[in-house]
Amino acid sequence: MSLFICPVCKLELTEQEKLYKCENGHCFDKSKFGYVNLLQSQKSSAKRHGDDRLMVRARRDFLNSGAYGFLREALCEAVEKYVPEGGKVLDAGCGEGYYSSGIKYGLENSGKNVEFCGVDISKDALEFFGKRKCGITCAVASIFELPLADESVDCVLNIFSPEADGEFYRVLKRGGLLIRVIPLEEHLYGLKEVIYDEPYFNEVPSAEIDGFSCIASEQLESKFFLNTNDIIQNLFKMTPYYYKTGIDDQKKIESLDHLETEASFEMRIFRKEI
Ligand SMILES: [Zn+2]
Repeated sequence: MSLFICPVCKLELTEQEKLYKCENGHCFDKSKFGYVNLLQSQKSSAKRHGDDRLMVRARRDFLNSGAYGFLREALCEAVEKYVPEGGKVLDAGCGEGYYSSGIKYGLENSGKNVEFCGVDISKDALEFFGKRKCGITCAVASIFELPLADESVDCVLNIFSPEADGEFYRVLKRGGLLIRVIPLEEHLYGLKEVIYDEPYFNEVPSAEIDGFSCIASEQLESKFFLNTNDIIQNLFKMTPYYYKTGIDDQKKIESLDHLETEASFEMRIFRKEI
């Protein structure tokens, strides 16, 4: 049995070598990259869903540089501390898998057994995720309509992905955990100083979610220095700023060969109320 359910009839899906199948005979082929497409609304198939390839590639290359490794380590410690042995973890909006693959390896090294699955709306992201070959099963689906049964997972990871709190509540077991990472006020301020004439601080969202209690939070900060234009471009292209700025502002980055900026996050851990 996989953690995924059939998007048509909602029965459990069984994973086979090349496909997933429910008892009613609905079949979903695995792509050559290993993920399964469980997205039902294919009407807009001409338009690609989710992060585009440029953004996904930039994010993979930037994250693989290790600049956000401190965040991944903090997430690994939280999962190790709070998720029970044999627990099930959903990475909701998993992207190209930098965080969940690293957490999985970290837990394996410390002898803890946790089952992961990932959901993302971007096929491009899941293609890159599949290339990591880390043994995490992934599905193309909306995180606002997760292909998982009610109360089926012990933990949901929500790392810079949209906040589908109603769905997170539905799929979490009683007492299950939602681990959310948000950027703080000064996150990437050094980058914004280069792009904008009047850089601004991020707005930090409230730590209250209906049906959940915040049981822990941790601020995680680091300064990092980027010394090639390629890696600066990768950072820029994985942020929303790239898509919000005009050609003139984008050109400011093209001539930059070093950048010092801060990464500033808060990891918030919520428990589903019973
Ligand atoms: Zn079915």
